[in-house]
Amino acid sequence: MDMSQGGDRAGSLPTGLRVTPSKRYAEMHSRSLEQPERFWAEQARKLDWYKTWDRVLDWDPPYARWFVGGLLNACYQCVDRHIATWRKSKVAIYWEAETGETRVLSYSTLYREVNRVASVLQRLGVGKGDRVALYLPMVPELPVFMLACARIGAVHTVIFSGFAARAIADRVNETQAKVIVTADGGYRRGKIVPLKEITDEAAALCPSVETVIVVKRTGEPVSMTRGRDQWLSDLLKEAALTVTPEPVESTHPLYILYTSGTTGKPKGVVHGTGGYLVFNHSAYEWVFDINERSVYWCTADVGWVTGHSSIVYAPLSHGAAMVIYEGAPDYPTVDRWWDIVEKYGVSIFYTSPTAVRMFMRYGEEWPLKHDLSSLELLGSVGEAINPEAWLWYYKYVGGERCPIVDTWWQTETGGIMISPTPGIEPIPLKPGSATFPLPGVDAAVVDVDGKELPSGQTGLLIIRKPWPGLLLDIYGDPQRYRDSYWSRFADAYYTGDFAMRDEEGYFWLLGRADEVLKVAGHRIGTAELEDAAVSHPAVAEAAVAGKPDPVKGEVIVLFVTLREGVTPSASLRKEIGEHLRQVIGPVAQPEAVYFAKSLPKTRSGKIMRRIIKAVALGQSPGDLSTLENEASIEEVKKAYDSLVKLSEEGDEKS
Ligand code: ATP
Ligand code: MG
Repeated sequence: MDMSQGGDRAGSLPTGLRVTPSKRYAEMHSRSLEQPERFWAEQARKLDWYKTWDRVLDWDPPYARWFVGGLLNACYQCVDRHIATWRKSKVAIYWEAETGETRVLSYSTLYREVNRVASVLQRLGVGKGDRVALYLPMVPELPVFMLACARIGAVHTVIFSGFAARAIADRVNETQAKVIVTADGGYRRGKIVPLKEITDEAAALCPSVETVIVVKRTGEPVSMTRGRDQWLSDLLKEAALTVTPEPVESTHPLYILYTSGTTGKPKGVVHGTGGYLVFNHSAYEWVFDINERSVYWCTADVGWVTGHSSIVYAPLSHGAAMVIYEGAPDYPTVDRWWDIVEKYGVSIFYTSPTAVRMFMRYGEEWPLKHDLSSLELLGSVGEAINPEAWLWYYKYVGGERCPIVDTWWQTETGGIMISPTPGIEPIPLKPGSATFPLPGVDAAVVDVDGKELPSGQTGLLIIRKPWPGLLLDIYGDPQRYRDSYWSRFADAYYTGDFAMRDEEGYFWLLGRADEVLKVAGHRIGTAELEDAAVSHPAVAEAAVAGKPDPVKGEVIVLFVTLREGVTPSASLRKEIGEHLRQVIGPVAQPEAVYFAKSLPKTRSGKIMRRIIKAVALGQSPGDLSTLENEASIEEVKKAYDSLVKLSEEGDEKS
């Protein structure tokens, strides 16, 4: 595949961002790779330790253990250390409910709540190393419970509140959690999600569960199982006011979090305490250039790694002020988010490409209605951001004033790995490129034999040295840990993603390595094709799948959703096909272009390729029931039906 395009895409660089780079980043990055232990020890000294480490790193491939012998507490880093300073009266969390209510928690309020909840957990017999499952909506109690677990050395496993009973039961049974924390309900698009009912269904399948703690959110009546279920408000009445933080070993597990499941059965990623916190504390400063005036808003759900690192542990370890929003982005009106930015004077805004594309589809009149002049920095995470979405975000949200940090990372990496680092120095940005690896991150693009590729060539992204955010293990499955990340190349971490480095050393993330089509002898990544499709002005989102073909090997089947106000037609279908040919070359001519109302997505907003593929192959929804995904079978069927139906309609028209 000809990836020289990466360079071309940069042709549309907003000139305002062409600043002269100094050498600061380059010096820091090379120093970090030459003397990693020294470098990371310097970073680690920014945190408070009960006991400093004996050794910075024990590297016994494939296991890296950081700050061995050190003792610390994650809750202390995020809460206690601030209340000893002026920050005790600083806002930690501005919470905005979907229903419009608000709650503001200062660092001292957070301290009080976390202590009392830690006491509740202790009184229920939860101790160091015990697992606690958190199935909560986006309410302040979610970070409070995470921090309370960390305070007593318990290990939290957050389960996204959009998941069904089966997904909860799988995670609880695997982690053997003895407590599940849930709520009487959560709000989503004005409707109440019956979280307690779903929890009951799950708990019935989970013998390890002794207690279900229920947070009151909606006030709806729920059934309580005697001897098992307890209202948080009742438990708090008995709680102590303070609980001493438990000093834990640096390598003590902080949490278990399951990956999104985009490519297969979700993996239970285990993160430690010391390395994880050091890595995130530093990365946050470098990437978001946080200061005391910053009002930070990461729109992710706490149920994903972004929520763990970029809502809870990194910002709070810096004593940042942040917004947490409970509900749907476009509810009750499609400018809800812009309204929140304006209301709280958000200065750093971090979201996903899928959200940006959704807003792009609604049209720029919505952000333009609001005063977004408080914004200083924008971020993107979750997938590659296509240059069109990047430029739209830059122009209409950032007012052509705010740099965009496109951050590449994974649940497994614990924190941001490749991203611009304006906190070190501003660099010229290229829309669609995550730019450079962070200090301490030794990223390389290699061929299938592990040989580093010259610039301009697409290959596999690996990380050659361990970094402190690296996962400790896959919970209960060390073999899967080895197989997934360490068996493909000797002593290097395999990311499973495609990447390319351009002439200037910028990294371009080009999708999953297992998502390549082989069309007439050419290998084309799905991400590249989708990027090209989305660059057509009528197209809002795109997904491609390959369909076996006796002559060409594979042919391209393209599904698109159109921008608001565009009518599907046979001529538009042809035009989009033509456009792909023009952007990539004749080999990219799709065999079929289908219009869809929406594309099936994972709960973290990534396109569910397995469904797209199944539809392209003409498989029946029955075949899909074996798909390992987190959505209910009905949801999969619905997505399938709408794709198929529109495809058929399309067939008739063309
Ligand atoms: P699973 O591993 O279970 O299939 P997943 O990989 O989707 O699920 P996550 O850990 O949430 O689970 O996602 C990490 C992946 O998301 C990365 O490997 C990459 O493919 C993609 N990604 C994240 N951020 C970016 C980015 N800025 N640019 C390009 N891709 C990104
Ligand atoms: Mg993954």
